[in-house]
Amino acid sequence: MPSVPTPSILNTDVLIVGAGVAGLWLNARLRRQGFSTVVVESASLGGGQSTKSQGIIHGGAKYALHGALSGASEAIADMPRRWREALAGKGELDLSSVRLLSEAHYLWSPGTIAGNLTSFFASKAVRGRVDQVTGTDLPLALQDPGFKGKVYRLAELVIDVPSLIQRLAELAGESLLAGEKIEPLYSGEELVGLRVDDREIRAQRVVLSAGAGNAQLLKSMNITFPIMQRRPLHMVMVKGPTLKPLYAHCLGGGPKPRVTVTTHPAADGQWVWYLGGDLSEADGVAREPAAQIAAAKKELGNLLPWVDLSQAQWATLRIDRAEPAVSGLVRPDNAYLWAQKSLMVGWPTKLALAPDFADRVLAALARDGVHPTPQPPLIGLPKPPLATPIWDQLLP
Ligand SMILES: Cc1cc2nc3c(=O)[nH]c(=O)nc-3n(C[C@H](O)[C@H](O)[C@H](O)COP(=O)(O)OP(=O)(O)OC[C@H]3O[C@@H](n4cnc5c(N)ncnc54)[C@H](O)[C@@H]3O)c2cc1C
Repeated sequence: MPSVPTPSILNTDVLIVGAGVAGLWLNARLRRQGFSTVVVESASLGGGQSTKSQGIIHGGAKYALHGALSGASEAIADMPRRWREALAGKGELDLSSVRLLSEAHYLWSPGTIAGNLTSFFASKAVRGRVDQVTGTDLPLALQDPGFKGKVYRLAELVIDVPSLIQRLAELAGESLLAGEKIEPLYSGEELVGLRVDDREIRAQRVVLSAGAGNAQLLKSMNITFPIMQRRPLHMVMVKGPTLKPLYAHCLGGGPKPRVTVTTHPAADGQWVWYLGGDLSEADGVAREPAAQIAAAKKELGNLLPWVDLSQAQWATLRIDRAEPAVSGLVRPDNAYLWAQKSLMVGWPTKLALAPDFADRVLAALARDGVHPTPQPPLIGLPKPPLATPIWDQLLP
């Protein structure tokens, strides 16, 4: 009988599943504190939601549009500062090589200011951080004699997520592992690690940060809580030689931005406008791609009639946000972590909240007295590839 190869066995302090921003940021923090780690990724680094996000480092201003901020949303108010320090190479991680796309995100009201802005300007997340801009201080795309309306500058950064993922992958050193088949590894009733393809990986703690993949991983462990929810979006991308950078929430009459525009560099040197906000939600999700593109063309035609889009290329992207299920369909505005014995599972709920997600894992490790242990260096593990930016995939 042919012998069955024995699986190779690895030991590590923390085994992380999923290499999006949550898993990679956590990994870098843990390694900096001396923990040994392995991060398993079944597809590409950042290729889930992270590199498909708009890269806005929210400070909670958008949510303040709903009215007064909840206590929890104060956590998000500190995120721009933490990212700013990291981007300057002086924070909890050295992200000085990450490309900053914009120092600010703007609120743009095309007509008169809607009534709900009163509570918005009174809320703590925006107090003292919002300035009206005019003339040459306006975003380039709005500097046109035809532009009417008001623009406010928010102290929220916009980053180039592919360069963030690349930097976090560098900080991961040898800890990344490409793995497809993942099964729990028990000793009696206790989870002691995971079997990843032909390897057994034993760990003091297992962290599931696999975004939308968490649901299936929990199912494979017969765990029924926490419950995940998906929020579908139908985003629009437009690339063209006439586009100028624009990072703005365009306000409509309602509590949500009518359209949120971010601008990203394509590999061929052109700019890509990435359109989310209300356009990409309920009605947008119901539309077929051609109808969604037609709706986006109409929106941009109304809002920015001076922009020549005759040579532009268009695409749409359907993508779900994966989050913990919360009551009343209120959007979670801090990172979420559930921990029991050796297992932790969570969702940052926003790219901006990846530092908060890592804080929660570190706090759980400290609470449980989990400390770094000496481990031999990892050598020659198969590495997952970096994700190709979504605009270069859809608008080559
Ligand atoms: C269109 C869009 C725009 C957004 N814009 C913003 C924004 O401007 N600002 C902001 O703060 N947030 C934004 N978000 C939210 C943000 O993108 C997410 O909250 C964040 O990226 C989630 O990170 P994550 O690491 O948890 O998940 P992901 O980035 O989805 O990463 C999960 C990883 O796990 C891997 N995986 C899945 N299953 C398995 C498995 N079984 N085994 C191994 N690996 C597995 C996946 O391949 C993936 O790489 C946006 C989201 C969307 C969809």
